[in-house]
Amino acid sequence: MVGMYCRHHHPDQQLGSEQLCAQCAELLVYARRRLERCVFGDAKPACAKCVVHCYSASMREQVRVVMRWAGPRMLASHPILAVRHLLAERRPVPRLPEKRRRKAGGSTPPESS
Ligand code: SF4
Ligand SMILES: [Zn+2]
Repeated sequence: MVGMYCRHHHPDQQLGSEQLCAQCAELLVYARRRLERCVFGDAKPACAKCVVHCYSASMREQVRVVMRWAGPRMLASHPILAVRHLLAERRPVPRLPEKRRRKAGGSTPPESS
């Protein structure tokens, strides 16, 4: 999605092996790092539905802009990925891992249904 967005919006600024502009490359590195460190591990929900929201406010906004633009276009260019993403967004949001709940002072996120 970041690649699609960048190729459309920043066609003259693409650099490096991923062919992204500096800002989009930074966003992608940031998102991958968040994904690697996600407290939910394999049970990770869609970030948009997450109860933790580990992204900084500015990165979250950048991702929101990218997703809003690229999401509907995914169906045409990458239909299988788009369907998988839509299914992932419908998965129930898991509870925070116990260790993380205790660290947060015992507050628990709403139960998923
Ligand atoms: S926003 Fe939530 S689901 Fe997404 S990477 Fe961060 S902790 Fe994981
Ligand atoms: Zn870009």
